[in-house]
Parts: sequence; structure tokens; C-alpha cells
Amino acid sequence: MPETPASQASKVHEFQTDDARLRPIYDKVVATERLSADDALALYQSKDILAMGWMANHVRERMHGDKTYFNVNRHINPTNVCVAYCRLCAFGRKKDAPGAYTMALEEAFQTAASGYSEAVTEFHIVGGLHPDLPFEYFLDLTKGLKERFPQVHLKAFTMVEVAFLAKRAKLSIRDTLIAMKNAGVDSLPGGGAEIFAERVRHIICDHKIDGSQWLETAKIAHELGLKSNATMLYGHLENDEDRVDHLMKLRDLQDQTGGFQTFIPLAFHPDNTPLSHIPWTTGFTDIKQIAVSRLVLDNFAHIKAYWQMLTPKIAQISLRFGSDDLDGTVIEEKIYHDAGAETPQGMRRQELMRLITQAGREPIERDTLYRPVTRTETTFTVAV
Ligand code: SF4
Repeated sequence: MPETPASQASKVHEFQTDDARLRPIYDKVVATERLSADDALALYQSKDILAMGWMANHVRERMHGDKTYFNVNRHINPTNVCVAYCRLCAFGRKKDAPGAYTMALEEAFQTAASGYSEAVTEFHIVGGLHPDLPFEYFLDLTKGLKERFPQVHLKAFTMVEVAFLAKRAKLSIRDTLIAMKNAGVDSLPGGGAEIFAERVRHIICDHKIDGSQWLETAKIAHELGLKSNATMLYGHLENDEDRVDHLMKLRDLQDQTGGFQTFIPLAFHPDNTPLSHIPWTTGFTDIKQIAVSRLVLDNFAHIKAYWQMLTPKIAQISLRFGSDDLDGTVIEEKIYHDAGAETPQGMRRQELMRLITQAGREPIERDTLYRPVTRTETTFTVAV
């Protein structure tokens, strides 16, 4: 029997559910109507993952067909020294703690240059909140990277780092972002959002900026023309209402700025954190989180399944449950591996493409701004 084209999947399989709360949501989804906060809560509370998957896949195929994006990137974490001591974190260290490190600028440039021979299109740069490193260190870092690798997009600094550096430099958030942009920063990765709900945020990351400051920083970045992603850390102390609140706040801001490119749900990894008693998320929760995100965030173009946290297998399955992006080759991921991730630290381009094609999807190598990349062995061209 000939194989059914993947893009036909949601048309040939009838929608079915015995969860009465999902029927009106289905009607809205096929009519392209926005879901309410109550709808989002009903989705989180439902166990009918196949019905959710049907709807999320329907939206995903309506937006992207079979296209599934990935990029070739390299992570650079210039320092793990951090004053915030978030309970969710296994990466940050006190300055004199074993394993604490701070890269000299030359070391960071060498790190950037090492790795696969394939041309990297993006450096993803995030790190700890170092008590002594001056703002100039970070400006010199991005300036130096831009000089050495002018073709590589610099996706650098979470909203939390931006706010911290602004304070240290005694600048406004806006002026800090302008200085970063002038020093070569092209966009922001969107981490540090964790969960906006104050009750939980106080427990898991008390010393970070609060949710409204995160959103305000993102808003200013977008106003300055810097795109960003947005994340949500789930699977710790938050409840369904907190997750809904988080998604709604992101959706509201996206309505205002249109500056978010991708939403990335991040599964909490408890190992080596003060919250190590919390069990790991299950595949069911991970897949459901992808599906709900796709359904609720109707103004986000992309939902990313970050394979480093989800495992390549769950990330691959999620390509049929709403996600359209598998992140990148990620050379040398540190943050989640310090928290116990057993996934490889990087994946070759061919392996990412194999995961995508075996799910019946079409792999599209993209740059950070989702422009298709055409490559030879050592060079690449971006369609503009
Ligand atoms: S999550 Fe970020 S801000 Fe918090 S301790 Fe870890 S590195 Fe520092």
C-alpha cells in the first residue's frame, strides 16, 4: 500500500475524543479561533493526548506543512560563576567552588572556533551572573566574535543576564541592549523566563528578575529590533494554572511586539540541584506540553522540541504533536548536562535530518531567523 503523505495525516485520521471538554476546543481549532485560558487549562487537565496531538498537528501542518527546522549552532557558556543560586540550577557555581570557571576572552574565541568542520550559523551564548566581570567583558566578547566570525549570528544573553548587566553597568535596560546590539548581538535566546508565577518563582529562582521584569526586558529588546525566543521551565513546583498564566502572558506580549520567534518548553532536570527530590518529567507530560503550547500560542510561528532536554526520541515523536523545530547540532551543551541530562552533548547534522525524515517530515536547515540555509561542505548561503 502506498504511504500516505505526512501532510495528509490530520485529514485521513478522524478527530476522536471521549473528553467532552475537548470538543469545543476542536471546533475552535479547525475554525482558527483563539483558545481561552479556560481552554488551555482544560487541555492541561485532559489525559487524551491523542486528541490533543490531532489538534496540535493540525495547526502545525496548517502553519508549516511537513517543514521541520534545525540549525547548526554552537553553545558558548563564558562562565558558570553566578550570584543567583537558583534552586532549579545545577550549572551556576560560587566563585571559589570546585568546577567554577570563567573563560578568558581568547579562550572563548578558541571555544567558538573549535568543533565540527561544518560552518556554524549561530553562537548561542549564555552564562552565569558573575559578580566581578564588567559589562565591557561581554561587549568585548561579542565584538571579538563578530570580528572573527562575521557570518555567524550571535544569539546572546538571557533577559536575566541583560537585567543583571544593566544594573552592574548602571545603565537602563534599553541602553544596555543598545550597547549589546552595537557590539554585535543579533538576537536573544529567551531563557530565564522559568515560570512567571510569583509563588513558584520565589522558591525556584528567588534572586532573578521577576516575571514582569523578564517580559519588560523582552519588550524593549523587540522594540529595538532584536528578536528573541521565549521559554518556560515546567515539571518542578508549578501547577497547571501557573503554566496557563505563563503562556497567556507570552501570548499577550507577542500580540504587542511580534518579536518572539519560537517558544521552547524546557523540561526540568532535577539532578544535582537542591530540588533533586522532584521526579523527572515523563514522556506523556513532555509531549502534552508541546501540544498545548502549539494550540495556545497561536501567534508564535514556531514551537521547538529541544532534544537535549527531551531526548532525541521524545523530540522526534513531538514532531507529530505540534513541534516544528528540533533546535540545533548544539556542540557542547553544559547547562542541562550538569543537571543530569544523559543525551549526547551535540548531534551531527545528518543525525538530526535522519530523525526528521523518519518522522515523515521535511528537514529544513535554517539560520537563527528561520531563513533557509544552503550549504556546501564548509560554507553556507542564507536565502534572504
Ligand atoms: S539558572 Fe542562571 S541565574 Fe540561576 S543560578 Fe543558574 S546560572 Fe545563575
